[in-house]
Amino acid sequence: MISSKTEQLEIIKDEVFALTGSPLYGYRQENKYYPVIGEGSHDAKIVFIGEAPGKNEALTAWPFCGAAGKILDQLLASIGIARADVYITNIVKDRPPENRDPLPEEIQIYAPFLDRQIAVIQPKVIATLGRYSMSYILDKFDVKEASPSISQNHGMVFKAQGPYGEIHIVPLYHPAAAIYNRSLLGTLQKDFAVLKQFAQ
Ligand code: URA
Repeated sequence: MISSKTEQLEIIKDEVFALTGSPLYGYRQENKYYPVIGEGSHDAKIVFIGEAPGKNEALTAWPFCGAAGKILDQLLASIGIARADVYITNIVKDRPPENRDPLPEEIQIYAPFLDRQIAVIQPKVIATLGRYSMSYILDKFDVKEASPSISQNHGMVFKAQGPYGEIHIVPLYHPAAAIYNRSLLGTLQKDFAVLKQFAQ
């Protein structure tokens, strides 16, 4: 019998919790952090993929619950999409020390879990937040026409063929970028508006 989406996502969660081979596992244990698996609807049409948990996220196990999360919430509200109707996750599931950028070997170890989450949820749209998830997803779906640069791709819609049908990939700046650069907030708002057409 094929298990439900929720059961399949639970198995992924258990495997990430038990990922003692991760280079970030020791840091998780030392700080009593949790891995952050994801949150939201298991039938979401839109999946958002960030970079990696920050401190608030690692302490609570909830994605985007700190300063960047507040901005994400505002952006979702600005286009009338409820957070509960989308799925939010990260490419790297454990917090890197001092919020440093994820290393290639960290992306490599966690990306298969993201791949499985996508295969279970089967979203129509993947919205990437920041350049790490953008690069990974454009590459995974073999999008040849995209630029390697987020400043060229942000707010664009790239069509790709997934194993379960057509998928739209929308690269977005990371909401945390708007904490330090307020002018990016307007850009993010404009880019988020692109997602509205997929909300129904
Ligand atoms: N930044 C991310 O990329 N992900 C989170 O969950 C929080 C902050």
